[in-house]
Amino acid sequence: MTQATAKSAHHHVELIEVGPRDGLQNETTLLSTADKVELIQQLIKAGSRRIEVASFVNPHRVPQMADAEAVLAAVPKQSNICRIGLVLNRKGLERAIAAGCDEVGLVAVATNTFGEKNQGMNIEQSIASCKELAPIAKAAGLTVQITLSVAFGCPYEGEVTAQSVLDIAKRLAELQPRELALADTIGVAVPTQVQHLFEHVRAFAPALTLRGHFHNTRNTALANILAAYQTGVKVFDSSVGGIGGCPFAPKASGNVATEDVVYTLERSGIVTGLSLAALIDTSQWLQHKLGHVLPSAVARAGMFP
Ligand code: MG
Repeated sequence: MTQATAKSAHHHVELIEVGPRDGLQNETTLLSTADKVELIQQLIKAGSRRIEVASFVNPHRVPQMADAEAVLAAVPKQSNICRIGLVLNRKGLERAIAAGCDEVGLVAVATNTFGEKNQGMNIEQSIASCKELAPIAKAAGLTVQITLSVAFGCPYEGEVTAQSVLDIAKRLAELQPRELALADTIGVAVPTQVQHLFEHVRAFAPALTLRGHFHNTRNTALANILAAYQTGVKVFDSSVGGIGGCPFAPKASGNVATEDVVYTLERSGIVTGLSLAALIDTSQWLQHKLGHVLPSAVARAGMFP
C-alpha cells in the first residue's frame, strides 16, 4: 500500500443516507413509490452504500412510510448496497424481514417523555424492545444498528446528562449492534458537548462503534460532525437536501444535509466515496418534487471549484 492510499483509507468517513426515511417522513408532500425509488436509485448512483429506505411503523401515525414493502420490492438486493429499515416493535421487525431489508435500525430513547411521545415507550421499555428485537433480526441474517434518540437534549425534559446516556449505551452495547448512534434529534448539541459525550461513552464502552446523527436546527450540525470526527467517530447519518425533522419533536428542523457534509469533509481531505455533483443534482430534483426550498446550503450555492 502506498503512503497516499494508506492516508486516504485512514481519513475516511461512512455516511448513512437517511433522506428516504428520516427525511421524507417529515414532509407534508407524499412522494409516490416510484419517486421514492427514483430517489434511492439516484443516491446509489451518487455513491451511497447504506441507505435508510423505509420504516415499518404504523401507517396511520406515519403515512409517508405506508408503502415500505413496495419500496423495498422495487430496490432489489445488491451485494454492495445495505437497505436499512427502521422498526420499533416485533410487528415492524417481521415486516422488515419479510420485505427483505439488509439491516434494521432500532431506536432507544434517552428520556421517558420523548420516548412516550415518539414510540409509546419509556427508557426501560425501549431498551427491552431492543433486547427483544436485536437477536431476532440477527437470527434472520440482518445486521442491527441502534439509535439513541435525544442523547444531547430533550424537547420535553431539557438537559440530558452524559451519565444517563452512558448507562443506556452500556446496556445497548451488550446487544453488539453494528453501531450505536448518539442522536441530537432536536439539534441542540454544540461541539464541546459532542466531544465530551462521545469520549465519555467510548471510554466506558470501547468495543461499541459509535455513529453521529445530527440535526441542523441551530446551525451546529457540521461543527458537531467535525467535533465527533476528531474524537474518532467515522460513521454519520445525513440526509440529501437536509430534509427531515421529527414528527414527535416540536420545532426540530432538518437532518444535516448530505451534500453539505460531503463538501466539508472532502475539502478537508476526508474521503466519503460520494459524488458531490451527483448529490447536488439529486437534491435539486428532490426540491422540485417536494415543491419547496430545501435547507442544504451547498445545493443552493453549487460546486467549488
Ligand atoms: Mg433525524
